[in-house]
Amino acid sequence: MKTVEEVYKLFDEVGCCSFATLDGAGGVDARTAHFFAFDEDGLYLRTMRVKPFYRQLKLGWLAVSAEHTAGRCVWDEDNMPHFQPGYMVRVAGSVRELTQAEVGAKAAANPLFNVAVYDIKKYPETVVFVLDRFHGELYDYDFNMVHRDHKILRERFAFGGDVFEEAGLSIDPDLCIACGACTEACTHKAIFPTGDGAALRILGERCDECGNCYHVCPAGAVRSKGC
Ligand code: SF4
Ligand code: SF4
Repeated sequence: MKTVEEVYKLFDEVGCCSFATLDGAGGVDARTAHFFAFDEDGLYLRTMRVKPFYRQLKLGWLAVSAEHTAGRCVWDEDNMPHFQPGYMVRVAGSVRELTQAEVGAKAAANPLFNVAVYDIKKYPETVVFVLDRFHGELYDYDFNMVHRDHKILRERFAFGGDVFEEAGLSIDPDLCIACGACTEACTHKAIFPTGDGAALRILGERCDECGNCYHVCPAGAVRSKGC
């Protein structure tokens, strides 16, 4: 399970990330922003009270995503894209505004709050929010298998009392006839024997939920989440 510090560093490595909110009129909105700090209470961001972003954050919900890649996507002669190894990270959960006293107390204890103190002095309408309850996922990819023998490694996590559901499809052992069609169809090397010579199982951290196994299974044994 990722710590809040590890999640912060994944986003900070990227810098400006995509922050999505509800817009209060039945839609959604998004912009780029930055988590400037973390501590045992969550991940911190700042904005100004006069911005639509502020009013949207006051609704209490925030989703943030970012992608870190070692290089640009390269297109081959068949017009197929090739991505360099990298990772995507995302979180979603609830946010709340900090009081001035809370910001002051945090600033006294956490040097990462220096930028918030600086901004509040320079731009008095600056406010600080904390994402204090969230779930998320690190999606580490190496599609051309440069550094390992499988394409993706997913890790889900939660913070502040939130919960997460493991990634990936699953196989119903009561229906599986161990024909092996799904293993052949899986390009992510995510399907393995259970060890008892019968049903197979899907490793959620490698599964991209592409649906190939679901498509080829003659026994209707592959399940997507919620089915
Ligand atoms: S959904 Fe795709 S990636 Fe996941 S196990 Fe099935 S074939 Fe493999
Ligand atoms: S294709 Fe279906 S029946 Fe065959 S091994 Fe995979 S899950 Fe089992």
